[in-house]
This record gives sequence, structure tokens and C-alpha cells, in this order.
Amino acid sequence: MGERRVAMVTGATRGIGKEIALELAQNGLDIAINYRSMQEGMEDLKKEIEAYGVRCEFVGADVANFEQCENMVKETVEKFGKIDILVNNAGITKDGLIMRMKKEDFEAVIDINLIGTFNVTRNVIPYMIKQKSGRIINVSSVVGVAGNAGQTNYSASKAGIIGFTKSLAKEVASRNILVNAIAPGFIDTDMTKVLSDNVKEGINAQIPLRRMGNPKEVAKVVKFLASEDSSYITGQVINIDGGMVM
Ligand code: NAP
Repeated sequence: MGERRVAMVTGATRGIGKEIALELAQNGLDIAINYRSMQEGMEDLKKEIEAYGVRCEFVGADVANFEQCENMVKETVEKFGKIDILVNNAGITKDGLIMRMKKEDFEAVIDINLIGTFNVTRNVIPYMIKQKSGRIINVSSVVGVAGNAGQTNYSASKAGIIGFTKSLAKEVASRNILVNAIAPGFIDTDMTKVLSDNVKEGINAQIPLRRMGNPKEVAKVVKFLASEDSSYITGQVINIDGGMVM
């Protein structure tokens, strides 16, 4: 292979994003790690990635802020020369039943999860169009496919990502840019650590494989969607959920 491909992963300081960054690095890609806030262990993550013989740089931006995303993408292209793969992973939850949900909590989730996906993609697309190639992988959720009580904001944002993915896939296919979404089920990260053991047991009972997934199991699918092996797949939503939604 000639020059290395470059992947930008948003929200990659922990959880699923971090595992995606490690997995892509292990497969020989240079990595731009987007972060919103500096975290303990970030330098260790950089060292771990560089140990695979690839380059790793941190690029800061709150994905909900368009200007910050514009600057982040410029900075990444200045540092690496290009972006081949974009993984829109940054996301939050602010759960609550509709009767108690504050407008701010609805907006915050849409702003980060859905508009954040637009903000980064909108700034990366011109470079991909120019280089006539690219891969975009958006992190949705099974909740965006099937809904979940207490998550109207989150599932609206994740369903929005699916519509965004399909429309963009149609728009840029002729430019050799493939756009897909993944829909993880319940994955063991900080996001789900907040759930009580009772709730977790209830969830596991609804999963045919009877367990939560781990971030590595998500990262492996992203690796596939970023690779040549998925060259004829675009506009798809791939569930990674132990059979929870079928
Ligand atoms: P997590 O452990 O809570 O990590 C979320 C990451 O997103 C953190 O690095 C966080 O950075 C970053 N982030 C949040 N808001 C951001 C912003 N405005 N700008 C930039 N970065 C931001 O969550 P996770 O479980 O790994 O989730 C990753 C993605 O998978 C999310 O999109 C989530 O919705 C989706 N997902 C998760 C599950 C699950 O069961 N865990 C299931 C389906 C889908 P900070 O540390 O600065 O907050």
C-alpha cells in the first residue's frame, strides 16, 4: 500500500469512539481524535495508537458548534493532508419521559447528536468530493430504528441520523463517497453504566444473545465499513445489537 489513509473519529476519547480509533489504527490508518474536553488518559491513548506505527493527533471541537467544526476540519487537513474516513460518533443522552422532558434537554440531544453529525460532515464533504473518494460512518442506535420509552429526544436524533445517512448516500455516491450508519444496541460504556442492575437485567432478557455488547464488537463493524471489503455498500443501517431489533 502507498500512503496511509486518514480517519477522523468524533468523541473518541472514551467508549465506542476510543475503541473505533484503536481498531482503525491497528489496521494501519492515521487517526485524528476529536475531543470536546481534555480527559485523563488521552496521552496514553495517543501512545497506544502510535504503537501501531501510525500517526495520531488530537483535534478539539464541540460538534454542536459549526464554527469549531469548520476550524477542526481545516486543522486536520493541514496536519494530515486529507480525510479519507469520517466516523460521526460523538453523542449524548438526556433521558426522561415526555411529560417531564425540558425543551433544553430535547434541544441539547438534537444539537449534539444530529446537528453535530451535520456540522462535521458538512465541513469534510468538500474535501472528499475534491479527492473523489471517502467513507462516512454515522453512529445511530437501535433506538432510532425501534424507539424507546423515555428517549424521545435521543431516538429522534438517531432516527434523524438514519434519514441523513440515506439522503447523503444518494447525493454523493457518484463522487465515490460511501455513507452508512451503524445502529448499536446496548453496549457496555459510560453511557450505559448509569443504568441500574435491574434495568440491565431487563434489557438483557430482551436480547436474543442475552448480554450487552462491548465497544470492540462495534469497532469491528466500523473497520469493515471503512475498508475496501465494503466497497459496494452505501446508504445502509447495520444493527450491532445481539439480535435485539430484527
Ligand atoms: P460515552 O462513553 O458517553 O462517550 C461519548 C463520547 O462523545 C465522549 O468522548 C464525549 O466526550 C463525546 N461527546 C459528547 N458530546 C460531544 C460534543 N458536543 N462534541 C464532541 N464530543 C462529544 O458514549 P458511548 O456509549 O461510547 O457512545 C458513543 C456513540 O454511540 C454515541 O453516539 C451513542 O449515542 C452511540 N450509541 C451508544 C450505545 C451504548 O449502548 N453505549 C448504543 C447505541 C448507540 P466528552 O467526554 O467530552 O463528553
